[in-house]
Amino acid sequence: MGTYARQNIVFAKGEGAWLETATGERYLDFGSGIAVNALGHAHPRLVAALNAQAGKLWHTSNLYRVAGQEKLAERLVAATFADKVFFCNSGAEACEGAIKAARRYHYVAGRPERWRIITFEGSFHGRTLATLAAAGNPKYLEGFGPEMPGFDHVPFGDVEAVGAAIGPETAAVLVEPVQGEGGVRVPPAGFLEGLRALCDEAGILFVLDEVQSGVGRTGKLFAHEWTGITPDIMAVAKGIGGGFPLGAILATEAAAAGLVPGTHGSTFGGNPLATAVGAAVLDVVLEPGFLAAVEQKGLRLAQGLARLKDRHPALVKEVRGQGLLAGIRIDATPADLVAAALAERLLVVGASENVVRVLPPLIVGDDEISEGVERLSRALTRLAQSKT
Ligand code: PLP
Repeated sequence: MGTYARQNIVFAKGEGAWLETATGERYLDFGSGIAVNALGHAHPRLVAALNAQAGKLWHTSNLYRVAGQEKLAERLVAATFADKVFFCNSGAEACEGAIKAARRYHYVAGRPERWRIITFEGSFHGRTLATLAAAGNPKYLEGFGPEMPGFDHVPFGDVEAVGAAIGPETAAVLVEPVQGEGGVRVPPAGFLEGLRALCDEAGILFVLDEVQSGVGRTGKLFAHEWTGITPDIMAVAKGIGGGFPLGAILATEAAAAGLVPGTHGSTFGGNPLATAVGAAVLDVVLEPGFLAAVEQKGLRLAQGLARLKDRHPALVKEVRGQGLLAGIRIDATPADLVAAALAERLLVVGASENVVRVLPPLIVGDDEISEGVERLSRALTRLAQSKT
């Protein structure tokens, strides 16, 4: 179907931060399949994990216990705030399930009137009808019938607006720690802490969407770890599968109380192939020093992008982001810079607010960061020339 405005290019294979076409042209991948290929392409540990599982068992459904799923859930529980995990296949499903969990939490506690969720302008939570309504972006909602009710939108970064929006029907606050699709928007310091305090005061749940910011992308396993707070529920996907479709809802025991047998489910969610890869991703990301190295690479990238702002002041207006979730805001259409970068054999990804996202895999090397920044610089020159 015609849902995508794709680049006219086909990749045949990949290794690390590089992709190659069938005719041997090599591209530096600073898009990571939209923040998915956390460990780059064809990481030997992931290939080994997938191959080993492929020869044993692919799928049994969630009618039975799944050993690899239990193991990955235990690893996630050990590494995070969570006591409980539900596996699905994508970010939208993880957010949708998080919304369901929040509503059911109040329902089973005898507060069915608490079902509304406060969300943020500029957010993105997926393309299902509920997650589209949660984000409230008119562009994506148009033509799909009545918008699903139950979401109250407030400006991103505005704790006071959230306080004013909380009412007797509010069940939860749902927020991305850093908005990705919305234009790599980092909220002001103290924002997440402020939301956590408001949720505690009101007796409502604090739900994080770490689909894009999670699994090491900002230099911590999850972005909220940069603050002192933890959520009650968290949606995870993208990087957790390293390129294999996998998503998860993580929750505290209390917040997961509503999701009893029969209330939610997935045929594929957490199947043996997906969870074998997910466990291998976690093994690598949680190795001592890995996340500290990502933080260093993030600083290096930020420095490189800041130099681009100096070199191309007419085009580059702002450099922003956290770790390897970086963005440059340009005085041009993001798609034009994405195309110019493609001509320099560099992959980057557009976002809202005239931002181009720079999302290298977490295993990117220092030389590759320098190379990527150089290619982006040439792309900016190309773009400037095309505009004159
Ligand atoms: N939430 C966030 C923060 C995202 O960035 C995305 C995808 O970009 C999603 C949810 C939806 O994920 P998926 O496309 O896997 O459904």
